[in-house]
Amino acid sequence: MKTHDSIIKYGSLEDLGKEIKNHKPSGKMAIITDENVGGLLLDRVKSSLAAEGFDYLEVIIPPGEESKNGDTYLDILNKLAEAELTRSDGIIALGGGVVGDLAGFAAATYLRGVDYYQVPTTLLAMVDSSIGGKTGIDLDYGKNLAGAFYFPGFVFTDITLLKTLPFIEMKNGMAEIIKYGIIEGGSLWKDINENWDTKLKDIIVRCQEIKTRIVKNDPLDKGERKLLNLGHTLGHGIEKLSNYEVKHGLAVAMGIYEITAIASKKNWCSQERAEEIIKCLEKRPFKYEKNTAYSKDSLYEAIKTDKKRRGDSIDIIVPVEIGKCEIKTISMDELKELLNE
Ligand code: ADP
Ligand code: ZN
Repeated sequence: MKTHDSIIKYGSLEDLGKEIKNHKPSGKMAIITDENVGGLLLDRVKSSLAAEGFDYLEVIIPPGEESKNGDTYLDILNKLAEAELTRSDGIIALGGGVVGDLAGFAAATYLRGVDYYQVPTTLLAMVDSSIGGKTGIDLDYGKNLAGAFYFPGFVFTDITLLKTLPFIEMKNGMAEIIKYGIIEGGSLWKDINENWDTKLKDIIVRCQEIKTRIVKNDPLDKGERKLLNLGHTLGHGIEKLSNYEVKHGLAVAMGIYEITAIASKKNWCSQERAEEIIKCLEKRPFKYEKNTAYSKDSLYEAIKTDKKRRGDSIDIIVPVEIGKCEIKTISMDELKELLNE
């Protein structure tokens, strides 16, 4: 790992080979992708690499969170070994968060670390998971329980790749964007609310910049980076209770609803601001819905096993203003009380 700085490049997928050449003059590239994304984009990536004289191999995994496990991870490592990939070669993660996390973890651990490049193809991966060096896999006992901080050489963003992304996956990423809007406020919040359709590209770039800045200040998640967990403590609980049927972003939106309601009741945040947040969540094109399926008690039980819990306390992220969130460390008993407010 050379740096905690996330470098983001923008361009058309056809330029990927050229950007890698600038970073790493020669070698073999292992393109890791899933079946869906591979079908859509693999040929373009291969020709872009071939044009710069790179040799390559492809590793294609089945799509979906089910692939983010130890078996697929070891399959990937074995394919890299079979192709005799060396330390002077590299890995390209072409896909959404699942591919990014898996390929990143493979890159972090294969031969104790080889260079890799993130090419996010979902909105969620573009604004969130591809930035910040978190890589990993799920274990039988929970999501992302094994992993490493390992930063890519760069993150390559081609926003036009979102054209083929199903709306439900767009919506999944939009929740993280609303999260950034609440954390940052200002013109980002205004554009999310008023200019979503016309300024999406600009909104994505600004979210990437915010994440890059926060991660640079706190790469290992010890302070400021925790702000990015707004909506996530409750969101992870909902995901878990639904057996991961509720997608991450949708659960995060529900988590933002709940924490905003709590913040308003406790007077941590004015009623007016809380209403502004709820209004944003409910309007087009987001149209998020509140959690009605899971009781406060079951939510509390699910959060108890969250990996963010430390002994008897847990950090919650509270919206105080649009553009100001606070990290509050509370006891598990206090959390129970808050949920039942
Ligand atoms: P996330 O980024 O939310 O973790 P995944 O990696 O699970 O998402 O991808 C979500 C789904 O979208 C998968 O089925 C994946 O194959 C598909 N997908 C990813 N990128 C694209 C794209 N650009 N166009 C169409 N489908 C895509
Ligand atoms: Zn998230």
